[in-house]
Amino acid sequence: MTRRKTKNRTGLSRIEGIQPHDAWVGFICLNCGTLNNVNIGNTLIEPKLAYDNYKWNCSKCEYVHSKDSDLPFVHWEEDFRLAKSIKAQRFWEAFFRIATENPEAYWKQCNACGRILPFAAFSRHSGWGPLERQMECRSCKGAINAVLNPKRTKQQLHESSVRRRIADLLVEGENEKIDIKDLFKRFDSKCFKTHIKLDIKNRDSYQIDHILPSKWLYPLKKENSCLLSSEANESKKGKWPSEFYKNNELIELAKITGADLFLISSQVPVVNTNINVNRCVERYLRVRENSHLPKRIKELKKILIDYDLVSKLSPENKKLLGLK
Ligand SMILES: [Zn+2]
Ligand SMILES: [Zn+2]
Repeated sequence: MTRRKTKNRTGLSRIEGIQPHDAWVGFICLNCGTLNNVNIGNTLIEPKLAYDNYKWNCSKCEYVHSKDSDLPFVHWEEDFRLAKSIKAQRFWEAFFRIATENPEAYWKQCNACGRILPFAAFSRHSGWGPLERQMECRSCKGAINAVLNPKRTKQQLHESSVRRRIADLLVEGENEKIDIKDLFKRFDSKCFKTHIKLDIKNRDSYQIDHILPSKWLYPLKKENSCLLSSEANESKKGKWPSEFYKNNELIELAKITGADLFLISSQVPVVNTNINVNRCVERYLRVRENSHLPKRIKELKKILIDYDLVSKLSPENKKLLGLK
């Protein structure tokens, strides 16, 4: 195998020349016990066809696995081992069926580490190749994700999760129920970022992107929702739209959803000051939570000051929170 390497945005090298959607079969040599893998391209094989036509040589001992071969099991009676015998024919039929009948039986080559691994070593990716699996094995996926979402310090993580939680609670009552059927229709049943076809019935495969994030106090509404595959949404998450979508995508997005193009293309996040701050604050204070009220008020004050929303508070709420 040649290992010419290409760089991509994850900083991890991909191995060139690996067809990411090819399937492989795997079998243990009957004669010497070696594991063999055969590339079969991007169409899965019918078991009957495999039995009729295939000859798989062992890479180590060259024993040929085909319905025309005698079985090499020396401890079996001669009568059982001859290729022509019904017993051997049944054996070969099942041998090819085991390797080809179910997608789970196939193997695939990871284009990040180069290993040929069983089906289950790859995560699902609908619409990708006959096996509908991702290009990289789950181990490599873990490494790639670590690059894309580098670990933040405990303190940063805590602060940002507190911020997100408060923001979520603040806008919660303003969220609209999204009509999923309508969403699929508007986005032509495709992930807006990757264009892969999505199945409305497979709830794990897609997510509703909150285009303008709740972190900046934008509730989920029809014009603020976009259809993404779960993988794409995993990297979008709380990002401001212009950090994730390219310019042509932002224009398209504004056309489809009616979102404000000026706002979604802003280079810096903009706080939503068009929400009813008083209503949000009152709802937030009423939410039952385990954490102490004084602590929650302190966090709330911090976000209201940071987001420059204090002037929008009613005199009563200002007094309640001890803000001037
Ligand atoms: Zn062998
Ligand atoms: Zn890998």
